[in-house]
Parts: sequence; C-alpha cells; structure tokens
Amino acid sequence: MKKILVAEDNDSNFILMTYILKKYYAYDRAKNGKEAVELTDVNTYDLVLMDIKMPVMDGLEATKAIKEKHPDLPVIALTANAFDSDRQLAMQAGCVDFLSKPVSSDLCIKTIRKYLEE
Ligand SMILES: [Mg+2]
Repeated sequence: MKKILVAEDNDSNFILMTYILKKYYAYDRAKNGKEAVELTDVNTYDLVLMDIKMPVMDGLEATKAIKEKHPDLPVIALTANAFDSDRQLAMQAGCVDFLSKPVSSDLCIKTIRKYLEE
C-alpha cells in the first residue's frame, strides 16, 4: 500500500481526509510544516498532502524544504483559498497540484492517482 503524509493542523479536516484515504492508502499525520519536514526526513512517503495554513511553519515553506531534499516526492497543496494567487504560490513552492477545501473524495483520489504509479 502506498503511503501518504497528510500535513494538516486542523483535527476535523484531518479526520475527513482519513475517511477519503483509508480505503486505498496508508498515511501519517504531521500537525504543522516543521513536523512534515521532519517526517519526510525519517520516513519514506509516496506523496504529501500539504495544508498551506499551518502554525510553526506553513505549507509553502515546508514544501520548499521538502522539495530541496526530495525533489521527486509529489506534494499536493490543500487550501481553503481557491484564488489563482494561492495556486501560483503553491506551484512556485514546488507543489505539483492544488486541491481546494472542502475536497470531494472522488477529486482527491483522482488527483492523488495522477502522481502515483498504480
Ligand atoms: Mg490549516
């Protein structure tokens, strides 16, 4: 089973995400960007779902740090803001794609599958 790191500070958003993922993927949780960077240093993941707004270190900064060390690890941004400027910032930070919250289960799985060889 492929393993996904879910970086999400909000408990309810994380629980919703686990309902979407649990049938198809193993997952770990990071509660902020710093934890996400640390977890990708010690574990191997196939993909990262990265909330942008998080305490300690936000998702943009965390994505830049992760991509420096793991250029091939796909990072998909998750955010409540669906503005073009947010999408652009996420892409500039190194995200391969962008999901707006609330994310539908189908779109989430479809988007993840684009970046995992299955
Ligand atoms: Mg957040």
